[in-house]
Amino acid sequence: MTIQILFAAQDPRWPQYEGPLRHALERTGITDFNLARDIAPEQVDYMVVAPNGPVQDFTPYKNCKVAMNLWAGVENIIGNPTLHMPLARMVDHGLTRGMVEWVTGHVLRHHLGMDAHIHGQDGKWRTHIPPLAEQRRVTILGLGELGAECGDALNYLKFDVTGWSRSPKDLPGIRCLHGEDGLREALSTAEILVLLLPNTPQTENLLDAQRLAMLPQGAIIINPGRGPLIDDQALLEALDTGHIAHATLDVFRTEPLPENDPYWSHPSVTVTPHIASETRDETASQVIAENIRRGEAGEPFLHLVDPKLGY
Ligand code: NAP
Repeated sequence: MTIQILFAAQDPRWPQYEGPLRHALERTGITDFNLARDIAPEQVDYMVVAPNGPVQDFTPYKNCKVAMNLWAGVENIIGNPTLHMPLARMVDHGLTRGMVEWVTGHVLRHHLGMDAHIHGQDGKWRTHIPPLAEQRRVTILGLGELGAECGDALNYLKFDVTGWSRSPKDLPGIRCLHGEDGLREALSTAEILVLLLPNTPQTENLLDAQRLAMLPQGAIIINPGRGPLIDDQALLEALDTGHIAHATLDVFRTEPLPENDPYWSHPSVTVTPHIASETRDETASQVIAENIRRGEAGEPFLHLVDPKLGY
């Protein structure tokens, strides 16, 4: 029987993904398939989805074995009451490596104080020498696919890395903490704080005024996770008082970030437009093909979202 695979991400993704998906499926040994943007719902065996894609009502896709999200974050789809099939999120080598590069770059920017020389070409000979990475404490909230790899890269550079997650972990070179006490400790030592948590009811406003106050004076915040992790008003106030020296923000409650949002003009904020890391079509297609192979072989799917946890 021909395997019916519906591509239900936004239209511009189709030309980007069609070729890599076909190649990946063939390389995986799947040759009898129909990959298309329009298939009668009851015939669909597998579907590739993305937030704001054309399928918002999953009810008629009665025989679909799994919906595979092109994004790592699933907050825009997991709450859909019509989603009756398992949901796989994107864990992709290209996405992970992109995040490692972005996080490492922004940590190094702040650690080395690069701005002073990039923006300070004013004839003054400033000789401030930054500490070594091993004297710089970096905390990562979220030790999943992305947080753990970022922690590994920062540890390789000899940063003093602490990580925090929901469940206990044991990762080489990372001081792993969990629970409320662990969070307090993780924040209290964070000269540079990286947020790589998912957006769930439990993580919303996790960084509120009280928790911001736990950070050391002059801490740096780097948020490539999700906008709702931070109480924006509390962050702006902490930036105004100087308690937080700088925030580099890639994600926001409203995206694109509205032109009049105070983050744009705040002197201690760097805005990047949700570009920390992107799913890469070649590597992501291999993950999708592997999950379809697993579905056909009756093996468990990779990277399934736990609906109770919301990530
Ligand atoms: P993941 O593998 O699911 O990891 C999530 C981590 O967060 C896990 O360590 C998890 O703990 C922890 N966590 C979840 N809820 C928690 C809670 N209530 N308290 C403490 N820790 C909690 O996700 P990922 O692939 O690393 O991705 C992380 C997030 O990055 C995504 O959800 C997405 O929002 C964001 N992202 C952003 C971009 C971008 O371009 N800006 C790109 C990709 C992803 P356990 O390990 O104990 O489960």
